Amino acid sequence: MSAVQKAHIAPAPATGSMRTGDDYLRSLADGRAVYIDGERVRDVTQHPALRQAALSAAKLYDIAADPAMAERMTYVSPTTGNRVLRAFQIPRSHADLKAKRLASETWSEASFGMMGRTPDHVSGFFCGYAAVPEVFEAGGKQFAENVVAYYEHLRENHLWATYAIVPPQIDRSKPAHKQSDPALYAGVVKEKDGGIVVAGAQQLATAGLYSDVLYLSCIHPLQPGDENYAIGVAIPMNAPGLKLYPRRPFAGQAQNGFDHPLSSRFDESDCFVVLDNVFVPWEHVFIYRNLEVCRDQWWKTPSHAYGNLQAQARYATKLRFMVGLAQRMNEATGNAGVPPVMVQMGELAALASIVETMLESQEIKATIDDNGVVWPSRSALYAVMALQSEINPRMIEIIRELTGAAMITMPSSLKDLESPETAADIERYLASSVSGARERIALMRLAWDFIGSEFGARHQQYEKFYGGASFLVKQNMYRNYDVKRSTDLVDRALAMPAL
Ligand SMILES: Cc1cc2nc3c(=O)[nH]c(=O)nc-3n(C[C@H](O)[C@H](O)[C@H](O)COP(=O)(O)OP(=O)(O)OC[C@H]3O[C@@H](n4cnc5c(N)ncnc54)[C@H](O)[C@@H]3O)c2cc1C
Repeated sequence: MSAVQKAHIAPAPATGSMRTGDDYLRSLADGRAVYIDGERVRDVTQHPALRQAALSAAKLYDIAADPAMAERMTYVSPTTGNRVLRAFQIPRSHADLKAKRLASETWSEASFGMMGRTPDHVSGFFCGYAAVPEVFEAGGKQFAENVVAYYEHLRENHLWATYAIVPPQIDRSKPAHKQSDPALYAGVVKEKDGGIVVAGAQQLATAGLYSDVLYLSCIHPLQPGDENYAIGVAIPMNAPGLKLYPRRPFAGQAQNGFDHPLSSRFDESDCFVVLDNVFVPWEHVFIYRNLEVCRDQWWKTPSHAYGNLQAQARYATKLRFMVGLAQRMNEATGNAGVPPVMVQMGELAALASIVETMLESQEIKATIDDNGVVWPSRSALYAVMALQSEINPRMIEIIRELTGAAMITMPSSLKDLESPETAADIERYLASSVSGARERIALMRLAWDFIGSEFGARHQQYEKFYGGASFLVKQNMYRNYDVKRSTDLVDRALAMPAL
């Protein structure tokens, strides 16, 4: 391994032991370049707007390192015999696939489904790559070896990879190589001894600033001439030249955990990525100037299906939380037993159940390939992903309708509950028949943070776009549907003899 590589790999826990939350937090102080308000963040774990989400992420590692959770969250590495995160398991049976989903459910419950790009998302993509390395071999044998070795490196060191796989929205009317400057979109600009140099920008590494490694590639369709952008490379977050520009952190405005219970804790951030001539050693290059492999990595391996199985497990958890939130709010207003309210709750529950059932359907309808690798059902996956951008706003709309003004008719902050001048009014008039004022305000704050805050609005955008724009997801659905079975039916109807 080259000196450059060694310097950039995040510190790992002692061989054989699970990574704890403390190990993880320590590893974040590695000199990564994160910029907020024009200034470089010295330490993500100390920044007031970033610290709490780092602690929430650390809890995930503590959950996995808890010996009582070993069976749920880990499995035995096939190469070292050590316990490693189940997120890295390549499923070889339907039971393995279910076990992966349950591990993701446990992690997603820790944030009520609010953190989308936890370490089990991009790990799923790497499982998919390592399961079908032949796809990478099409670009050269060394690339298949590199991707399998890197997958094992992530797995054995319990590392967290995030990804930036969409070119920036500078001018979508032109392909990558016809942009005003060829180094605008992230791509290779030079070959050097021992590796390549990448430059340009890419969107949008959610949780990038909390992770160990960036996977840089492209899922957008590329065309002949775009070869420099058809790459797949892993870059440690503290690599010289890698810069992260997170959107404005919502936790920065969150005065306290009572008034902003979600945004203060679970703002995972979304980072615009700039690569200022970043050197990538060959060992970390998996796809090199190859349009076909760059496309096939998503569709001819189970990568997209594994990664999005986690995304759906997380989404199903969030919807369960949403139904619970609506129920508690109805109870607070005394409306829970009103028949029309029960009808609306029924619609919410139906939509949440569809997502949950489609998640299980990805397992039940999973298939096993010639190498014994289990692929989740992609028709089940894309069906639910394709409808997500309609289901989600509908559910939010129902909750808004059910709550009336409740989320707004709240005092300005916790201080109103504490001030001797205001507390008596608040206690008297903001209580409900089932709780005191403090509990009712806490519930409404939770609901507003979920639905109406800037954090809530970002979540609505996230559910629409995290898996790609819906017109693309619907095309995936179409490609994975058994259209022939449908047209055969029509043809048989047309072939019915005249009566
Ligand atoms: C909160 C959030 C988190 C994200 N996290 C990540 C991440 O972790 N990693 C990552 O790589 N990316 C991430 N993304 C980026 C995401 O992958 C992209 O937003 C997504 O792929 C859509 O691309 P775009 O935003 O460039 O939209 P565009 O592709 O520019 O499309 C925008 C809109 O234009 C219209 N449109 C454009 N072209 C067509 C067409 N051919 N036919 C019909 N309509 C069209 C559609 O209405 C479409 O919704 C995230 C995005 C969001 C919002």
